[in-house]
Amino acid sequence: MTKQTRFMAVVALALYAAAVRANGADMALKHSDVVFMYASPDDVYRAYGATFVGWGGASSGEDVKRHHDLGIRCTGSMWCLTAGAKLIHENAEIRNACAVDIEGKPVEVPWLFDHTHEGTKSYFGCTNNPAFREHCRREVERCMKGGADGLHVDDHLGVASPAWYFGGGLCDYCIAAFREYLKENVPADELAKAGVADVNTFDYRDLIRKRAATREEYKKVQRQIPLMNHFLEFHAQAAAEHVKLLGEIAAKTAGHTVTLSANAGLPDKAHTYVIKYLTHIICEVGQNAHSGTVKIHHAIEAYELATKLGKPLAATASGWDWALVKEKKLETLPRFWIALAYAHGQRFMVPHPNNQWCFTDKLGTHWYQAPVEAFAPIYRFIRKNAECFDDFETASAEGVKVSEKVHVTVRKNERTGAPALHVLNLDYAAAEDRMLPAQNVAITLPEGLLPKDAKQAHILSYDAEPAAVELKRDAGSCAIILPELRLWSVIVVE
Ligand SMILES: [Zn+2]
Repeated sequence: MTKQTRFMAVVALALYAAAVRANGADMALKHSDVVFMYASPDDVYRAYGATFVGWGGASSGEDVKRHHDLGIRCTGSMWCLTAGAKLIHENAEIRNACAVDIEGKPVEVPWLFDHTHEGTKSYFGCTNNPAFREHCRREVERCMKGGADGLHVDDHLGVASPAWYFGGGLCDYCIAAFREYLKENVPADELAKAGVADVNTFDYRDLIRKRAATREEYKKVQRQIPLMNHFLEFHAQAAAEHVKLLGEIAAKTAGHTVTLSANAGLPDKAHTYVIKYLTHIICEVGQNAHSGTVKIHHAIEAYELATKLGKPLAATASGWDWALVKEKKLETLPRFWIALAYAHGQRFMVPHPNNQWCFTDKLGTHWYQAPVEAFAPIYRFIRKNAECFDDFETASAEGVKVSEKVHVTVRKNERTGAPALHVLNLDYAAAEDRMLPAQNVAITLPEGLLPKDAKQAHILSYDAEPAAVELKRDAGSCAIILPELRLWSVIVVE
């Protein structure tokens, strides 16, 4: 290699590395990452083996340094939901930048019914209105000025949320932007069919008012109004572009490449548009706590969708789930949620020791303090066995047979092709909040899933010492007998 070609190779390598950094690929969450939602004291981080804070807690340089000294990446956090009742009350420009309905009335955030200021409610901000966009920009600059590793955007849908669900998204700015969207994306004959005489002067609200004059009427007939699919699509795409812009502002403010995450509630469709711009997803995934382990398909669907979209996800349960955990002092069920997420290659955020959000219609927002000793061991187990998580990717569980009280996922070592099986007990006694242990659990695998010369499997659990079992091969299949299944066992075949 000549000096010149060596120089060119170095340049090419540097350019490649910069490109990888630029799209955040090397910043993605790992399967074994232990993610906190919010900042916590040093001793709590150490107890859990924390590696990432997903939802803020690092708005000053001092905060960022504290996290880095502990080996933890951290994020700045802001939301696109509302400017808040106080600011809306005091600032006319912000007040005029709220999401409005077909009557021009501001749309309140339903779950912030108890957040008012001198009679002013918490109204959705309109992320298509320049004044609210400027407000969001300032919020990003505020939370990123300490040089955090990433930006987390909460309520990333902005005005798309009231547009999809609460009868909003109909201010002059939204209507003007929708007009441009129609011009670019919808064929003239489709517009004509919907009754649009001239797209250049078209006001969608005129078309709506022929069918609904009030928010209540509108909400009843919304999905039947012509062009509504385009209207919702426009809003979701505009919200996604806004989040992308906030990510650029964040990188500029921090002075380096940043991760970009949003509270994108998969598998809901409105939340899928932004995914392409994110490095990872931080979100609530409903666990149907009231049904114990019976209705876990929704959570599994969310984890599998994130995998399919190629974006790491760090989940927490919904406010309703946590309210039940707090009320019944549940520990086993949340441990099951943690295991379920990691078994599907995703992460479940550490139940927060001070501020785990709970919500019920009766109690509104309230908080759960998760006991560290109840949940830290399972996370320490994950950190200790990080290579059994990070080296493995999702594989098909087709042909794997187990009893119906057991849930199995198959992960595959990217280098060797050897499988790791995550075996979860579904036999949950809700009244006692415990798993009924099962003895001699048989797992039958198609022979093709195993390396040819594999003879042994290693059983790893957070609540027992590692153990080894023999593989029992028989005419095209192979059985592993797990001596005891309590909550979660990871079986690594070598
Ligand atoms: Zn608007």
